[in-house]
Amino acid sequence: MLLSFHLYKLTPVSILPNVIILHDKSRSMDFTLNEITQQVGHTARDFALQHIKPQMMDWDESQEFPVPVFKELGKLGMMGVLIPEKYGGSGLGYFEYNTILQEISKVCGSIGLSVAAHNSLCSGHILAFGSEAQKQKYLPKLATAEYIGAWGLTEPNTGSDAGNMKCTAVRDGDEWILNGTKCWITHGKSSDVAVVICRTGEPRTRDNSTAFILERNTPGFSAGKKENKLGMRASETTEMIFDNCRVKDDSRMGEVGDGFKQAMYVLDGGRISIAALSLGIAKGAYQAALQYSKERQQFDQPISNFQGISFKLADMATEIMAAELLINKCCDLKSKGQSVTKESAMAKYYASEVAVKVSTEAVQIFGGYGYTKDFPVEKFYRDSKLCTIGEGTSEIQKIVIAREILK
Ligand SMILES: Cc1cc2nc3c(=O)[nH]c(=O)nc-3n(C[C@H](O)[C@H](O)[C@H](O)COP(=O)(O)OP(=O)(O)OC[C@H]3O[C@@H](n4cnc5c(N)ncnc54)[C@H](O)[C@@H]3O)c2cc1C
Repeated sequence: MLLSFHLYKLTPVSILPNVIILHDKSRSMDFTLNEITQQVGHTARDFALQHIKPQMMDWDESQEFPVPVFKELGKLGMMGVLIPEKYGGSGLGYFEYNTILQEISKVCGSIGLSVAAHNSLCSGHILAFGSEAQKQKYLPKLATAEYIGAWGLTEPNTGSDAGNMKCTAVRDGDEWILNGTKCWITHGKSSDVAVVICRTGEPRTRDNSTAFILERNTPGFSAGKKENKLGMRASETTEMIFDNCRVKDDSRMGEVGDGFKQAMYVLDGGRISIAALSLGIAKGAYQAALQYSKERQQFDQPISNFQGISFKLADMATEIMAAELLINKCCDLKSKGQSVTKESAMAKYYASEVAVKVSTEAVQIFGGYGYTKDFPVEKFYRDSKLCTIGEGTSEIQKIVIAREILK
């Protein structure tokens, strides 16, 4: 299937002390995207160019979250990429998901971010930990974007330190009463269904949180302040407020006390999507800068003739390829059902820093024109910074990586 990192048919032909020399002509890694992945990529690219690009600067300016675009993406199967067909999804894998996110984000990071939050976080959590009844109830509607999904972990005082959350759920017979505030929630206002992780045990104890699925019209559940952001402005980010909000016990996902563990698993997959979003932004900024550098004349020649510019392009291209390889490694592990905790943190950390660096250099290559909204690099530059923050900052990724390698 798809990309393969297998080294296959390895035959040791000579054994030296501690060294095995392998000789086989079939020893190779296949980096070619298969036909389905390529087709999915073309569809996403065409959609982004036709339906996102013409309006994205208006949405960016007014901070409009363009719900109809997500309904259209739902018709194309891009809002339920990883959801199995039996729940109405596309039943595709991480290579296709990564390709879709890249193609959309090459054009507009905001739409890429929202597609990622909907697919990986909300739907991903229900797919991984929902009961059969919960999956049947919510996944078909999420897959078509009849429902827009949100996922709430972060709170005003607990971002990186998410295990110390204050938002509580207290059991009352067959119901739970939720109180508190979640912040920075993608689609916190416009979502129809939200997965929320609340504290159900004592502060700073293990296994003290539980995940619930909430529908928008649940009494006591409302949206708070909408953030006015630097970038990703067409992706809605708001508070979610719970004021004696009652939910039935059948809204609970998994066991009481498993919420944080579930959230960490969901973020392992989510970080691949932020890495893919980052890579899309980096590629979009690089391609714009490459083209501009060949067209812009100074001192009677294209600026790409100057080593100061061509070396920037060389660094950008190299770092983009390195980020892509890390992401493909994660997709390969995911497609084999293996753990990606370390690898997805590496991919997210590296790709997001590359997105910031490449889009910064792209603005530099455009000179003064790059500082205006007439050219795309200004938006890539603003959008890219979210990638080093959302779903765990770069510092938190390094903590995850260090913990894994020091085990
Ligand atoms: C646009 C946007 C969309 C988002 N969408 C969602 C969403 O849908 N759902 C959701 O739950 N959350 C969402 N978030 C929240 C996001 O995941 C958090 O912002 C992020 O985890 C960081 O938390 P914080 O903002 O509270 O920063 P803090 O945790 O306060 O961190 C501040 C700084 O301190 C550093 N720091 C913290 N702890 C350590 C440490 N131990 N060692 C070294 N450095 C440390 C951080 O790296 C950072 O540089 C979103 C955020 C944004 C900006």
